[in-house]
Amino acid sequence: MNLKEIVTKKYGKEIAQCSNEELYFALLEMVKEMAKEKESSEGKKKLYYISAEFLIGKLLSNNLINLGIYEDVKKELAAAGKELSKIEEVEPEPSLGNGGLGRLAACFLDSIATLGLNGDGVGLNYHYGLFKQVFENNLQKETKNPWIEDNSWLTKTDKSYQIQFGGFNVTSRLYDIDVTGYENRTNKLHLFDIESIDEGIVGETIDDFDKEDIARNLTLFLYPDDSDDKGRLLRVYQQYFMVSNGARLVLDEAVARGCNLHDLADYATIQINDTHPSMVIPELIRLLMERGIQIDEAIAIVSKTCAYTNHTILAEALEKWPIAYLEKVAPQIMPIIYELHNRIAAKYDDKSVYIIDDERRVHMAHMDIHYGYSVNGVAYLHTEILKNSELNNFYKIYPEKFNNKTNGITFRRWLLHSNHPLSELLEEKIGADFKKDAMALENFAKFAQDDAVIGRLLAVKSEKKAELKAYLKETQNIEIDENSVFDIQIKRLHEYKRQQMNALYLINKYFEIKEGKKPARPITVIFGAKAAPAYTIAKDIIHLILCLQQLIDNDPEVSPYLKVVMVENYNVTLAEKLIPAADIHEQISLASKEASGTSNMKFMLNGAVAIGTMDGANVEIADLVGEDNIYIFGESSDQVIEHYAKGDYVAKKFYDEDEDIKKAVDFIVSDELLALGQKENLERLHKELINKDWFMTLLDWEDYRKKKDEMLADYEDRKAWAKKMIINISKAGFFSSDRTIDQYNKDVWKLS
Ligand SMILES: *Cc1c(COP(=O)(O)O)cnc(C)c1O
Repeated sequence: MNLKEIVTKKYGKEIAQCSNEELYFALLEMVKEMAKEKESSEGKKKLYYISAEFLIGKLLSNNLINLGIYEDVKKELAAAGKELSKIEEVEPEPSLGNGGLGRLAACFLDSIATLGLNGDGVGLNYHYGLFKQVFENNLQKETKNPWIEDNSWLTKTDKSYQIQFGGFNVTSRLYDIDVTGYENRTNKLHLFDIESIDEGIVGETIDDFDKEDIARNLTLFLYPDDSDDKGRLLRVYQQYFMVSNGARLVLDEAVARGCNLHDLADYATIQINDTHPSMVIPELIRLLMERGIQIDEAIAIVSKTCAYTNHTILAEALEKWPIAYLEKVAPQIMPIIYELHNRIAAKYDDKSVYIIDDERRVHMAHMDIHYGYSVNGVAYLHTEILKNSELNNFYKIYPEKFNNKTNGITFRRWLLHSNHPLSELLEEKIGADFKKDAMALENFAKFAQDDAVIGRLLAVKSEKKAELKAYLKETQNIEIDENSVFDIQIKRLHEYKRQQMNALYLINKYFEIKEGKKPARPITVIFGAKAAPAYTIAKDIIHLILCLQQLIDNDPEVSPYLKVVMVENYNVTLAEKLIPAADIHEQISLASKEASGTSNMKFMLNGAVAIGTMDGANVEIADLVGEDNIYIFGESSDQVIEHYAKGDYVAKKFYDEDEDIKKAVDFIVSDELLALGQKENLERLHKELINKDWFMTLLDWEDYRKKKDEMLADYEDRKAWAKKMIINISKAGFFSSDRTIDQYNKDVWKLS
């Protein structure tokens, strides 16, 4: 049925008479119907991308684009006096992810369907997601983010399993979300839930619920606070629930396609996205044994079926669960984990590769590496660091398992959807090929000296900046100057990403303006970031930025030249508005710490220029665009790794020896800021920067400041800057997730 027919049937009226909400629900129904027609079961072997996070964003427009009906629907609505962009606003955004890792999983599903591959996602249906961020008194407060409505993208299925925990059982229920490929097949995102969930047990704040009432709380939140045992146990319950359901689904579907289980690896492959789903290995072995396969063979089968992606070298993220937790949550898999460990211990003397350590903790990544057939990093530099240092002991055992898959982003969402005027300009100049073949963007490079194209491109940027201005005014009551330079840093808040270094730059700029050294053009610096609820210093950094924002807003000497904005509740929807409007983007992590980054790719594609360290995929971006088109500063990953090895970085030395650093750092506890903020938070951050600064903010600060000032000066040559924009856009093709997925398929999954 077309939209008109659905509206007539559903509401008995014309499109023109419907509310935006009614039209949203009608479009939802229409899209689901059309997506269903493109469902396919083609392909003997199937990929299961199993992940604790899928940061999918809103789906309406993306689905309309992928189904090829976006323009028609927009016109039909416009003819009835309705605006698609207003209808889009009705859709709630689920927060089923934290940041990059979850967003990557969502981009991958889009590309898998777009390439016509047989592959689905498997995860959990968190009712309140991560959290919704609100600011109160310049502090982050976490509130629940409900997104499931009676009518939503979820479709309840008849699939349900009995999942056994230590001492009790729960009944699961599978919900599916359609994943439409761009002019191709429809795949599924399978989200498991629990029948006995009870949203009503949560009080005012997100940690106000009984963490031990597993049968009612299991799928309420992504990453419930794990600062105590109860929270950590709840995470293990979630992980086991996810993998036990996932493993059963894999086996059921394989059998339905004619698999006899001995040949499972010919019918299924499981990509383990970081260590959260690692228990799928022992669980799958256990289920195969239940179905009559001997342990040696079960282990061999699973080892040919599972592949592992490592996303970080930060120790905190390489999960190690105490045996006592696993014994409590899923005692049935412990004998298998002991067996897997014993086989390794019998073979190797080097305890650093063991699965169970002397403190009786299970190293999830070690299990993945020994009993999976592939281990990949997510950018060239990251994979090299894994091979040569972090996982070197494993690399020496299994060099053939290690491979790199540099991350990517889907151009449907991050160009076609988020930047219509740029897509139109590109199509006019280089044809429509880039929509299916991202490398065709290279053809745009020939316009780097073309004054007419430069004029058009700068006009597109101005249009997106004006749109962002209007959006922030309407949704967050924030006023920005569209003629200023937009300098944007949006990503999770983490010390290694060094938002604090940017903040110290702003304090220094504030002093300069006060002293009469005014920038050539006003600067607007926009941050967006959620901090993990239990990550104290990260929340202190948010506090500092919000206090700076208020201080500068209230200072008539400075505010005409400098504006600091921290947008509330940074999410995919905001990213789609912010990225196309950026002139400058900040990718300033401490070298060796950012595995890849993907916002760097989104910005580049939208014609923003990076200031960044030689870290993650920045290395590959710099390589592609050349040094004239990116601003690189700071110490190299080798130098940083050496500082850690020698333990020779002393923040206090930089603080004592550099006048400007001392002045900027001390401003954190100045009377001006203490008047706006909380003493406890500001003093804690001040102390941390001087006495610890684990991620070496002060090391690179001087270099960062010089580089940024150079960049701002260069911005004033608008023509030379536009050339940089064009080169960035034209080289972005490599970062299409279609390329990434094609490489996974050819090297790892080998789907037909
Ligand atoms: C792309 C994206 C990220 C990842 O950003 P990085 O800067 O690469 O860490 C995080 N959150 C959202 C909403 C995104 O769209």
